[in-house]
Amino acid sequence: MQKPLQSKTETAVPSPNLYDYTYPELTQLLANWGYSSYHVDKLWQALYQSQVQSLSEINVRDDLRQKLESAVKIGVLGTETAVASNDGLTHKFLLKLADGETIETVLMGFTGRDGIPRATACISTQVGCAMGCVFCATGQMGFTRHLSPGEIVAQALYVNQILQQSGDRLRNIVLMGMGEPLHNYDATMAAIDILTDHKGLALAPRHITLSTVGVVPGILRLADEETRPVRLAVSLHGATDAERQALVPPARRWPLAELMAACRTYIAKRGRRIFFEWTLIEGKNDTSEQAHALGALLQGMDAHVNLIPLNPTLGYNGLPTRTDSVQAFQAILATYNLPSTMRQRRGIDIAAGCGQLKSIVIT
Ligand code: SAH
Ligand code: SF4
Repeated sequence: MQKPLQSKTETAVPSPNLYDYTYPELTQLLANWGYSSYHVDKLWQALYQSQVQSLSEINVRDDLRQKLESAVKIGVLGTETAVASNDGLTHKFLLKLADGETIETVLMGFTGRDGIPRATACISTQVGCAMGCVFCATGQMGFTRHLSPGEIVAQALYVNQILQQSGDRLRNIVLMGMGEPLHNYDATMAAIDILTDHKGLALAPRHITLSTVGVVPGILRLADEETRPVRLAVSLHGATDAERQALVPPARRWPLAELMAACRTYIAKRGRRIFFEWTLIEGKNDTSEQAHALGALLQGMDAHVNLIPLNPTLGYNGLPTRTDSVQAFQAILATYNLPSTMRQRRGIDIAAGCGQLKSIVIT
């Protein structure tokens, strides 16, 4: 469902941002001013194909440009800081929003098995996060505000422009930066619509991964989203309520039985597998008992487990599970026919790894 246009004035951004408009919303805006879909297409192409940085660069009729200048702006993001990892492939950007708040976006480059370079942008959906997971730097900083659709989209454009300088383009997005995307559901869905619009950036929905801490009502809504076939990742970290609640406070609100029922509904309705994420903390949730409990919990589901050895954050005392113990954990999961992958640790030296994002750059 599209949001009514009036809501533009209610977003946290001071003046309406063109990137906030989905294609149907932009059509409505221009129709209100008496312009046809021809003008909408020209404007959309300027924004998402030519990727203009200001209204003055757009090749539209002067009267339309004047209308646009009086009503909207193009909300490009300012670079506060950019740091590159020693791995030469990971870059972290601290980006400034119109109201002075800052967010982090990470660009991860890697070469696929076929030798073709593939880039992934790790994008934020909120300034901070309200969920308070104990081992996560974003959770440790608390919640400031939701991002608007345009602020989510602008991060993808930012990374795309960097990639274009080397003849590449953005193909993959993980909504795994700062924030909980299903806590900012409508803005996240609008951003997905804008990013995947075939007349614009035309990203494949299957190349967008939405990661949630397990917001059950959001998963159930997503199960009914027929037009947004993104990949779903659910962060689990514990296979019993007590163990999960110790790490992930929202697990008290949505116990495992409810979460698993929502995941089963999603798989049944969408016919798609779920990726379950498990941050491995030495001596905490990496024992063979926990591997068996996880195996039993997910057995028979169309599931894939992503194991992420803990990345260090200032607010949590814990160590990452060693690689041999990760492999032992994986071997137990395999006995339940559960495929798993150990997530490559990337950008740890610049605090750009999973759960390390907060609006302070460690250099
Ligand atoms: N809020 C969403 C998406 C952002 S967090 C979610 O929680 O899923 C992205 C992933 O990083 C999640 O799986 C999260 O559990 C994981 N993560 C958080 N802190 C981490 C840390 N310190 N080390 C490793 N992974 C972490
Ligand atoms: Fe928020 Fe995800 Fe971090 Fe938990 S892990 S605090 S949900 S960003």
